[in-house]
Amino acid sequence: MRAMVFDEVGRPLRAEERPIPTPGAGQLLIRVHACGVCRTDLHLLDGEVDVPNPPRVLGHMIVGTVQPGGEGAGGAGDGERRVGVPWLGWTDGTCEYCLSGRENLCPNALFTGRDIDGGYAEFTVADERYCLPIPDSYSDVQAAPLMCAGLIGYRALRMCGDARRVGLYGFGDSAHILAQVCAWQDREVYAFTRTGDESTQAFARELGAVWAGGSEQAPPEPLEAAIIFAPVGALVPLALRALAPGGTVVCAGIHMSDIPPFPYSILWEERALRSVANLTRRDGHEMLALAPQVPVQTRVSTYALEDANRALEDLRAGRFTGAAVIVP
Ligand SMILES: [Zn+2]
Ligand SMILES: [Zn+2]
Repeated sequence: MRAMVFDEVGRPLRAEERPIPTPGAGQLLIRVHACGVCRTDLHLLDGEVDVPNPPRVLGHMIVGTVQPGGEGAGGAGDGERRVGVPWLGWTDGTCEYCLSGRENLCPNALFTGRDIDGGYAEFTVADERYCLPIPDSYSDVQAAPLMCAGLIGYRALRMCGDARRVGLYGFGDSAHILAQVCAWQDREVYAFTRTGDESTQAFARELGAVWAGGSEQAPPEPLEAAIIFAPVGALVPLALRALAPGGTVVCAGIHMSDIPPFPYSILWEERALRSVANLTRRDGHEMLALAPQVPVQTRVSTYALEDANRALEDLRAGRFTGAAVIVP
């Protein structure tokens, strides 16, 4: 099979011909139909998040079909059974986090496309217990961005409680999904983009944002919550300044540049600052049940497997709106 492989920090992914993987106990063999491109993949390429044992096939927003050969692939028609494979690939199930509904914080967790080979390939294997069902109303390509941008975005939105006025800083794959969920939940979305990025601001308004502007601008009303998707620490004090008393800023990325010092007064009055790490299977099931009700529609740019590096550089440069998906 063909795969795009990470070797070391600073090098583009390398095209490789490798054997189709053999599923182990409890694993499914999956033919990859679509795999979303995540900002986390840029952090892996750039060494901001470590890949412990390269070479590694990246990609953790996988939609595919179960193939004969895996343990869980017994039934008739299994060639048609679609599954999604998210970032959370395995947990120990025994630590205090796993036992208290917080498997996203399991210290022994293995993550797809970082610790386990992922979806930038024609086939992959995945632990069946961590695979998620794909709603029937979604095509493979349309569903792929839900698998991380959607799921981790959903977890971040959960951290906002019942906040009505929600700011989204960085209007990329996650925000374009969440904006639709927020509008459906009768929340008001305030979209913050790079200064002067009028096409993304127009895109945000199209998806239901009541206001869109540059990240240095103040929103017309103080926010009750803000989610920061862009990996830019300087956004933290800006978002805190945009918050009403009692509001929360949620940092949704796995990596962020350093946060500049800021006066205590912008945190005072019970404003809160927190991060979101990974996802639980519960997040996955809840979001994938919610998405077709909204219904969330994803805007997708597709790339051939061999063009994975171009997809990643387009993401870095902000050359598309919505999400990028690789179609092997
Ligand atoms: Zn991701
Ligand atoms: Zn655990």
